[in-house]
Amino acid sequence: MIEKTLVLIKPDGVKRNLIGEIIKRFEDRGLKVKALEMLTADQATVSEHYQLNNRDYIIHLGHVDTTGWSNEQIEEKYQKSYKIVEDLQKFLISGPIVKILLEGENAVVLVREITGKTDPSTSPKGTIRGDLGEDSFEKSNQEDRAVYNLIHASGELDEAEREIKLWFPS
Ligand code: ADP
Repeated sequence: MIEKTLVLIKPDGVKRNLIGEIIKRFEDRGLKVKALEMLTADQATVSEHYQLNNRDYIIHLGHVDTTGWSNEQIEEKYQKSYKIVEDLQKFLISGPIVKILLEGENAVVLVREITGKTDPSTSPKGTIRGDLGEDSFEKSNQEDRAVYNLIHASGELDEAEREIKLWFPS
């Protein structure tokens, strides 16, 4: 199915002059750039993107299935993810970013595949985060900040629809 999805090149990707390299990797795999803009995000948009006031979103951050979890386990995940989302908000607003609307066959899954895993240090070679990422969960946690992983890419089709409406309102 032809899908649309959203990619944000985060401030680390822009600072490290990786905009072209990142877009090339998507284009090389057949994805079409439908819209693109460089900007510094405002707090309102970032708060809609990383939703600190949405308990369900926080609990399921990373698309974790909490079926069968105890209340304590859910509360622990909530506390941990809340801090991660707070740090992600701060990071996303910390400098210029590039928002990109991509389209292609199975675009949501394909873009996630090209992007790689959240932690660049364990992301496979051949992925953007695996090849170009220089950070790790370990280092980011030591320094009490979000992990520098170059890109945000929508995780699922409904997330892509929501995020496209947010970043590319028409
Ligand atoms: P992605 O941008 O790859 O979709 P998310 O921001 O949704 O990644 O995070 C996915 C999961 O990775 C989260 O549920 C969280 O458990 C984990 N994670 C993210 N950042 C960190 C961090 N700095 N330290 C530890 N785990 C993290």
